[in-house]
Amino acid sequence: MDWSQHYPAFIQNCPSVTQSAAEAELPSEALLAESPKRVEIADIGCGFGGLLFALAPLMSSTLILGLEIRTSVTEFVQEKIKALRTQNAGNAFAYQNVSCIRANTMKFLPNFFEKAQLSKIFLCFPDPHFKARKHKARIVSQQLNSEYAYVLRPGGIVYTITDVEDLHDWMVEHFDAHPSFARVSEEGDECVRVMTTETEEGKKVERNGGQKFVALFIRLDDPPWP
Ligand code: SAM
Repeated sequence: MDWSQHYPAFIQNCPSVTQSAAEAELPSEALLAESPKRVEIADIGCGFGGLLFALAPLMSSTLILGLEIRTSVTEFVQEKIKALRTQNAGNAFAYQNVSCIRANTMKFLPNFFEKAQLSKIFLCFPDPHFKARKHKARIVSQQLNSEYAYVLRPGGIVYTITDVEDLHDWMVEHFDAHPSFARVSEEGDECVRVMTTETEEGKKVERNGGQKFVALFIRLDDPPWP
């Protein structure tokens, strides 16, 4: 992956970026010192990007990536990112920390990230696939959880939210059963508020007076080799 196309302000240490950062009174050294930065947050099945756009200013020096299987939806998010960057051209880093790619994460997630690269993975309102014969299409399973464990660093968090109680129970059951994860409290985590209120699906559920079920899982340390 050539991430510089996605995050040019962060991944290429070009003088114009440093200069505009100075004009915007941003701590360019601090932001660029760690260059090249790596994606740390993944929003799997990001849809129209509500979570990405809400997290971008809250975590302005952390690279955030949405992964979405639908081409037209991915293009919409990419165009919106371009527009927001242009609208905020005075601030060299505004929305530069967010990007979106088209990907089927059920097949290709480990192609994009190295082991222990991510600190947060969001699974917000995944498709429920209600029928039992369709459960294999759910984005939480024993096998996929091992992939999430691979790309997530110890101490990293998987955030899940859904309005379908059966799917919530399924996700809790599968993460609880996985040796790399343990459920943790959602209290006091700002990202929980954001994913509950800023995702498109979260807003839709709110309008319809539905319930939202949240569960967070921490990536445990790997046990020592015997
Ligand atoms: N997360 C968004 C939200 O909360 O508003 C969108 C939720 S929507 C119900 C589920 C999204 O997951 C859809 O945009 C769908 O295209 C995407 N999706 C489904 N399977 C996927 C896969 N295997 N890889 C990437 N995205 C997927």
